[in-house]
Amino acid sequence: MRKTRFRSFPVLMITLAFFAGLIYFIINLAIHSAEWASMPYNGHLSDSDAMEMTGTITDRNGVVLAKTENGKRIYNQDEDIRRACLHVIGDDSVNISTAIQTLYRSELSGYNFILGLGAPDFLQKGADIELTIDSEVQKAAYRALGDYRGAVIVYNYKTGEVICMVSTPTYDPENVPEDIDTNDEYEGAYINRTISASYPPGSTFKLVTASAALEEDPDNENREYDCIGYTEIGGKTINCYSVSGHIDMTGALMNSCNAYFAELTVDLGKDCMLKQAEKMGFNSSWKFDGIETAKSSYDVSEADENAFAWSGVGQYTVLESPINMAIRSCAIANGGKSVTPELIMNINTLFGGSLKQNDSSPSKTMMSKETADKLADMMDYTVENSYGKGYFSNYLDVCAKTGTAEVSDDGLAHAWVTGFTKDEDCPLAFAVIVEHGNSGYQAAIPVAGAVLDAAAEALEGD
Ligand SMILES: [Zn+2]
Repeated sequence: MRKTRFRSFPVLMITLAFFAGLIYFIINLAIHSAEWASMPYNGHLSDSDAMEMTGTITDRNGVVLAKTENGKRIYNQDEDIRRACLHVIGDDSVNISTAIQTLYRSELSGYNFILGLGAPDFLQKGADIELTIDSEVQKAAYRALGDYRGAVIVYNYKTGEVICMVSTPTYDPENVPEDIDTNDEYEGAYINRTISASYPPGSTFKLVTASAALEEDPDNENREYDCIGYTEIGGKTINCYSVSGHIDMTGALMNSCNAYFAELTVDLGKDCMLKQAEKMGFNSSWKFDGIETAKSSYDVSEADENAFAWSGVGQYTVLESPINMAIRSCAIANGGKSVTPELIMNINTLFGGSLKQNDSSPSKTMMSKETADKLADMMDYTVENSYGKGYFSNYLDVCAKTGTAEVSDDGLAHAWVTGFTKDEDCPLAFAVIVEHGNSGYQAAIPVAGAVLDAAAEALEGD
């Protein structure tokens, strides 16, 4: 009797371990099955018809951007739209890690937990995804960038809907170039520059420095300065683009006076600058619709006085993503509060109901309403008196700030422009970068203008 009991104990333990393992496996299967089944390196499944993404992807107007026909994934019939939408949609591979077809592969292929990928044909319809982008505005941005490498992001600063997200270099997902991995022309083509790249922000960063000063003391708006074309800080020279003479903060922003903002930066101090930069999205990333953006960075811990002064005009080691720049322009337009962008309107399953995730970063109070309104007025004044409202857009009243950011590789400077429209019916925040475009005024504004005009036309009927 005793012997039997002694023997049955290990059997009991083995049985318990077996059931514990089984439960562990079932729980994991429930959590990860869709992911495992549609793993790109799961060769058996990816070769079978069952792996086809059957869901359709449309833009905000129902224009089909990707669908499956006779077992083949096909994209929009307009090659420029295909190229313009590549980084948002993706191609048949998973090379573009932030693309919808990469992130939502299992939803699009209609994986079923009970039946796996072996569900009957009529149940194998993947979810359809409706995006917030407008394919015509995408095309306008792609064409406006021309042969330049760069990025354009435009979104509704009230609702968060992304109207345009274009990155170049790009390629046609229906005819992926054979030399894509060896030809320099396609270097970085798998990167969505709007969300996954960051660059020196140059003079656009003066908006961050100005907001730090105004948050510290609203009277800083009246701080006056005599610009002689340069200043000496920490024993080294900081040059301006021109001699501005006697200016206040509005005049300094309009003339993009480096000396004014460099001196202001040193007076504010590192803690104040870091605090405001972090309130405006630096040193953290944004999340929405399963996408995590690159971090923008502001770190002056090792900077000497001259380097710190340069940080306040967006040079030194400061780096910013185009999407972060658009989000801080959104906050300026919105009385100080940011609205997180979103790219997916809906994910509609065969059985109804939406799978859209609610994972967006919360909105942030980046500055007081008083500061935001003052900055908005300064950007309005800058466009009116420096760039010209008509040079920007035929339809919209645009407030903006350009930037021309020196780069370390001896190439021409990067050209930036960021801002927003002053229009209740078409409230758009934007950022444009033209790599090596040399001048924000000459290279970036025409791209922004073309895209904003296309957006005004597209959204008219919305
Ligand atoms: Zn100056």
